[in-house]
Formats: sequence, structure tokens, C-alpha cells
Amino acid sequence: MNVLLVEDETRVADFIRRGLKAEGWLVEHAGDGATALEFLRDRRFDVVVLDLMLPGISGQDVCQRMRARQDHTPILMLTALGAIDDRITGLRIGADDYLPKPFDFEELLARLTALQRRSQAFSVQATNDRLVQDGLCFDRHSLLLTVDGREVALSEKERDLVALFMSHPRKLLSRERILNAVWGAQEDPMTNVIDVYVGRVRKKLGPYGHLIATVRGAGYRFA
Ligand code: CA
Repeated sequence: MNVLLVEDETRVADFIRRGLKAEGWLVEHAGDGATALEFLRDRRFDVVVLDLMLPGISGQDVCQRMRARQDHTPILMLTALGAIDDRITGLRIGADDYLPKPFDFEELLARLTALQRRSQAFSVQATNDRLVQDGLCFDRHSLLLTVDGREVALSEKERDLVALFMSHPRKLLSRERILNAVWGAQEDPMTNVIDVYVGRVRKKLGPYGHLIATVRGAGYRFA
């Protein structure tokens, strides 16, 4: 089990980290919201333990930004704010569970284990069906692309291109490979059809258009 612990109080962070490590869990620690969002952009975690009162970006903001970019990693909010209103707000903005401080470690462990068990059934399907990068989400089952949660209309070839890029993050895709995958053998390799379509797709990706980078003389790389 792979946990991201977002907590600015060193004493509390050490306590949780030691306890979870003793249970055989892998724990990555972020001391503020911005660092947490960076970790979440690059890596997959089974669950996030999220403190609310953080320097800079608050825990509520981290939660909302994760859900806005279609990151459905289970979140357990951990905070001194134990009032019922705060708990309701936390759950409403996308947290999966809530534990007020001070808490009992055994309860934290039991809740995290339950969260992970519940999400496991969904995660297999989610990782197979959904390709996610920043604010982009392409669902391979429904073939829908959303940009910051808004659906974007794509032609068939544009859709194939998006699926190809998003399923090969950070890999150099040669022009030949793209042509073969999206257009098949009938297109002339010298054609500029790829550049035309990449230009269109970049526009449709809006603020994330730059994620499709041109690698001069070689092809394209996504993210
Ligand atoms: Ca705090």
C-alpha cells in the first residue's frame, strides 16, 4: 500500500509515518499542499492522508484540485477541525473519509484499510478505462474527452490521436508510428496530415495543448 501523507506538523507526520511503515506500507510525505499536488501529478498513490490546515494551499484546495483534474485517489482528511460543518464540507468537496485530531492510530489504520479495499474494486476499471493527465481525462470506454471537467467534441481521427498520446505519456512517438496507429498503411509517410491534426488537437486541449510537444525531426512526445 502506497500512501501520500500531507501534514505540516513534523511530530504528527513522524508518528503516522512510523506507524504505517511498521505495517509494511510505503509512505511519501509532503509538508504542504503544493508539494502534495506535485507528487500526485507524477505518481499514483493508493490513498492520501490529508491535513486541512496547511501552509499555502489548504487541504480543502488540494482535495478540490485533485477532483477537478479527475484524480479519484481516496482521501482521508485529518484535522483538528472536528466540527460537524467542517466534516460535511470535507465530504462534500470530495473527501472519502474524515478523522478528527487527536486520533487513535488503530482507527486511522482501520479506516485507511477500509478505504483502500472499497476503492480497489473501482480502480482496476478506472485505470483501464481512464487516461488522465493534468486536467485532461479520456475515457476509453465512452470515448469522451474532458478538459478541466468539460466535454470536448472530437472527430474520429482526433480521438484516436488523443488516445494514442495519452496512453503513451513521456514516450517519443515517431511520425511513422502515429501514422500507422491512426491512419493505417494507406497514408503517405510524407504527408503533413499528422501536423494538421496535431494542430487541431492542441487547440481542443485548451490550456493543455502544449503537452503535445514536437520533437524536431523525430515526432511527438506527450506530457
Ligand atoms: Ca496542519
